[in-house]
Amino acid sequence: MPSGEPLSSIGIKVHVRIRPTAKPSPMFHIEDQTNTVLIDLLKQNGGGAPESFVDQIAFSVNSITQSTDQSEVYESCGRALVKDFLEGYNATFIAYGQVGSGKTYTMAGDMKVNAHRGFIARAIHQIFEEKEADPGSGIVLYISYLEIYQEGMYDLLNQRSKDLMIIEESGYVYIRGLAKIPVETEAQALMCFSEGEKQRSYACHQINQVSSRSHTIFTLCMEKRVGRFKTEYDTVVAKLNLVDLAGFERLKKTNTSTGGRMRVEACSINKSLCLLEQAVYAIKQGQEYVPFRQSKISIILKEALSGNCRTELILCLWPEEYFLDETIKASRFAQRLKVLRTFSIHNKKIDCCVLNERRHAQEIANLQQELALKDALQGRPGLSFDDLTLENYSLYSRSLKYLCELNNYEGKSMQLEKVLSEHGLVEPIEEPQETESGVGELTNQGFHVGIAPPHARPHNPSASKPSPDEIHCSHLMLDYKEADPSNDVWETGSSFRNHVSCNITIRISFCLFI
Ligand code: ADP
Ligand code: MG
Repeated sequence: MPSGEPLSSIGIKVHVRIRPTAKPSPMFHIEDQTNTVLIDLLKQNGGGAPESFVDQIAFSVNSITQSTDQSEVYESCGRALVKDFLEGYNATFIAYGQVGSGKTYTMAGDMKVNAHRGFIARAIHQIFEEKEADPGSGIVLYISYLEIYQEGMYDLLNQRSKDLMIIEESGYVYIRGLAKIPVETEAQALMCFSEGEKQRSYACHQINQVSSRSHTIFTLCMEKRVGRFKTEYDTVVAKLNLVDLAGFERLKKTNTSTGGRMRVEACSINKSLCLLEQAVYAIKQGQEYVPFRQSKISIILKEALSGNCRTELILCLWPEEYFLDETIKASRFAQRLKVLRTFSIHNKKIDCCVLNERRHAQEIANLQQELALKDALQGRPGLSFDDLTLENYSLYSRSLKYLCELNNYEGKSMQLEKVLSEHGLVEPIEEPQETESGVGELTNQGFHVGIAPPHARPHNPSASKPSPDEIHCSHLMLDYKEADPSNDVWETGSSFRNHVSCNITIRISFCLFI
């Protein structure tokens, strides 16, 4: 699972799109300044003029548009959300409304006419525009297209995908078995979408000649690199769901009440939308149990309703008097949804190697700090670690471990020296020359690691002042100090307590890194 920043709660946005109609209802009003939809209610008894404060319902939303211009609607409602997705946030855009109100027109539009293209084609265009503008980000995109028809799930991009299954793992929901098609160009992505559209279930009825009879979820998954260097970067992942819900319908109005396939479809659509409403209501009420699992669309939208997702809904309204009930019903649903809050995480997937490198670098920095502190406490000059890299860190560690494990070190010291010199970590091999004291001889370039035999150990190291050479290589003195049980300063963290002794010259001290 991607790692992320602290959670920040975010409200669901609701936009209203009003489709053009020849006979708008006089009871339907819009207040542009406050982004409010007002609907007058007729009094049930007594008649007379409606009393505005009692008989008018007000629905406050985030934006209202009556435009038929697809581009204008996308710019005002969709572009910002797609930008969030490109930055690495999960996003969902849902079209909701009664049958024939313009949901499919908004999401899919007419692919043959450029000006009539819907949200999906425009989102694809925006994404590839960004990809081309920033080739270094290495954006990788995958597309899936799912249809829910009569509670069955169908892969619109791969007819052979069978047994699709909804999997819920640690709050994340995905469909097992659903094809994820990699796309490299805008043309490929549009082709995928058009091919999927051809597989959708449509029907013709009294209200809509080309009525989509299913819910569809068009998903774009993105991976991109974020970082200053080619070799050091984070991978940002995000998911954009573009959801075209089937519209609820009155069987009488669509003339499907007599029976047949269309009636079954309508009943299934109405039922699933009703169950979605129940889930939304339960979240809004703060209920402990939310019935997501009652319908496929509810569980698939779980993240969009209450999880890691930035969600926006476009409420399509058809403001004719004949559909006033449906308009009120749809507006009530949107109103409930508007008060829900989701959370938004910047989804970063950190590469294991990068993570390990960062951990090691941090560990080294911590140890250096610790060493500097100990040096300061001991009143010794600090060491320079400029030459230290991750590569030789590991080799040093292994070499010193090897040293410590040696029983017969004298026999093997030459062997070890050879290995180290091959890696350029020690001075070229020289014949070891026994000094008078035998061990612990200092040179200008470095020092000898090991402990002195009893006869070479100073009786009282603090008695005489160390020479500059000794100060420079003061870490060497560790050996002497460690050998003295009364000295507890270096009690922990040093493997030199094994008291190995050999004549190897190492450029810098590494004793405390073990
Ligand atoms: P549904 O909400 O059932 O998906 P559609 O999107 O299929 O409805 O819309 C039905 C018809 O209404 C479409 O063929 C489209 O031509 C027309 N239509 C809907 N909304 C608009 C709009 N905002 N501007 C122009 N035509 C629209
Ligand atoms: Mg539709």
